[in-house]
Amino acid sequence: MENKELWEALEQKCKDCTACELYKTKTNTVFGKGSKSATVLFVGEAPGEQEDLQGIPFCGASGQLLDKYFASIDMKPEEYYVGNILKCRPPYNRDPSPEEQEACIGHLREQLKLINPKIIVCLGRIAAMKIIKPDFRITREHGQWFKKGRFYITAVYHPSMLLRDPAKREETMRDFLEIEKKLIELRESDS
Ligand code: SF4
Repeated sequence: MENKELWEALEQKCKDCTACELYKTKTNTVFGKGSKSATVLFVGEAPGEQEDLQGIPFCGASGQLLDKYFASIDMKPEEYYVGNILKCRPPYNRDPSPEEQEACIGHLREQLKLINPKIIVCLGRIAAMKIIKPDFRITREHGQWFKKGRFYITAVYHPSMLLRDPAKREETMRDFLEIEKKLIELRESDS
């Protein structure tokens, strides 16, 4: 199959998925957005209310804040893709259960395979615990780099946390500057 067909098939698979109970309460499947040949894949935990209503990840206030961080390190739209571990919203924005994460993570793995990024940035504690390590401590370990296979992986605070606690925005800016440095390093090693 062509790349475009693979993407369409994967998106349809997510729309049709009944692997956990969340398909029963979702309004829309929230598949992902951004460049399909991105260098950086940003991964949150699950869609929130606005995302569920619109079918687009990070489209509310959290997304606007995230866009400001992208702009602050001059990251171009063709350089990133944004998605979540879960494609359906947990009711009342509760944390996704380990079973729901396990049921859905295969979709993200397929997205990862198609995009083939160099960097993965976990947005928040839950994504970091699933992708980096189960005992990940976001307050202590955000901004640190981990190498898994060919991927450089780091975590930053989830933008919804930054909306609740603006005092964390400065350290998040420092984390984004580290992401910018890594991007520059990788661009230079490619040239
Ligand atoms: S959250 Fe994921 S695993 Fe659960 S129904 Fe939706 S697409 Fe399927």
